[in-house]
Amino acid sequence: MIRTDTDLQPFNTLTSAARAKYFAEATDYQGLHEALEFARRKQLPILPLGGGSNIVLTGDFPGLALHMGLKGLEFEPAEEGATRITAAAGENWHQLVMNSVARGLGGLENLALIPGNIGAAPIQNIGAYGVELKDTFHSLTAMEIATGDLVEFSAEACQFGYRDSVFKQSARDRFLICEVRLQLPGSWRAQISYPALQQYFAETGQALESLTPEDVAEAVIAIRNSKLPNPVHIPNAGSFFKNPVVTGEQYQVLKQRYPDLVAFSIGDDWKLAAGWLIDRAGWRGFARDGVGVHERQALVLVNPGHQCGGKVVALAREIAADIHTKFGVELEAEPRFYPDSLPDSPGAGRQSTSA
Ligand code: FAD
Ligand code: NAP
Repeated sequence: MIRTDTDLQPFNTLTSAARAKYFAEATDYQGLHEALEFARRKQLPILPLGGGSNIVLTGDFPGLALHMGLKGLEFEPAEEGATRITAAAGENWHQLVMNSVARGLGGLENLALIPGNIGAAPIQNIGAYGVELKDTFHSLTAMEIATGDLVEFSAEACQFGYRDSVFKQSARDRFLICEVRLQLPGSWRAQISYPALQQYFAETGQALESLTPEDVAEAVIAIRNSKLPNPVHIPNAGSFFKNPVVTGEQYQVLKQRYPDLVAFSIGDDWKLAAGWLIDRAGWRGFARDGVGVHERQALVLVNPGHQCGGKVVALAREIAADIHTKFGVELEAEPRFYPDSLPDSPGAGRQSTSA
């Protein structure tokens, strides 16, 4: 059923008020076809919605907001002791992780407590603590918006990168992800290279060899709860910026000026911790007119005042400009903005440019 003039505040974790001209909840393929047919007839743009934890609503959406509510979760044995998971787009990501670790299956535990649904996980190749979706991804089925055809994507076809995939690039706005298949390996080794995990297990005294996937998931949950704001209590969209990647030369200049710079080498280039840059520039804990920067993690912008997305983006721009002035580094927004441009500034707020 298609609703009109629908409030999207419950559908974004930043809790920004915005309205969709039309809204539909699709719980099966028939519902998806009907919604797409409606949008085609009226020539409407589509906003696919999962848990709304990686979007910024900067204004009313003039098309069809389509909540992807398809359900279904299956675990089955695969070759060489592996396990194949088939999950529909509307299943909750964290519940899938916890379901896997409860079965003793390893591979997803570092990705515990990431908000949102399965359908959005491939969009930015979700990642945390040195693990990304692509590490256990097998394939997915998507519905082409223009035709309603079902299309299979292999891992290669998804072109996964750092918080990136084909669905943010050449296939942007062209597909609805309906079902995702993961393959968890038969053998498993805990991946605890991140300092926070190292420190956690140093404190508990657990040896690496004795760890189970459940132990690692518990550690990730405890660490995340200690520093990241729960969107249920403090509205936010997670990390607002991607970690910028700079050349070795740029890195050397910065490292000389800031010996405590947090950065990690990736081949010849360096990934800078955007949270460190924002913190160092003095923004951590900043608050103004109901929006602000989280006091424990400067990479997370918060919206306790339930302000419109435009206000959050305005703050993000101010921060990005300041980082550029102070460090000569461009910050790129991670969440997607809808609509793409802000009403007061044509062309502004596009994800492909700095915030
Ligand atoms: P939404 O916000 O609903 O959608 C995100 C994008 O995907 C939108 O462009 C939307 O249109 C599109 N989309 C959604 N579903 C579909 C579909 N079925 N088909 C086609 N397009 C679709 N991300 C990480 O990578 N790592 C983290 O550790 C992490 N931690 C977070 C912590 C917090 C507190 C928060 C608030 C966010 C965090 N995120 C993290 C970001 C976010 O949780 C992930 O990107 C998540 O995958 C978004 O899922 P969602 O269902 O909420 O997507
Ligand atoms: P953190 O552990 O304090 O680390 C700070 C930054 O340093 C992170 O951005 C991380 O990069 C990088 N880093 C740390 N150890 C590293 C290592 N051994 N190798 C390479 N890079 C390393 O970060 P945090 O804020 O508490 O977040 C923990 C994890 O959850 C991170 O992986 C982060 O990406 C993820 N997370 C993501 C979101 C989101 O919305 N996207 C929100 C919250 C947390 P990476 O970010 O590349 O991992």
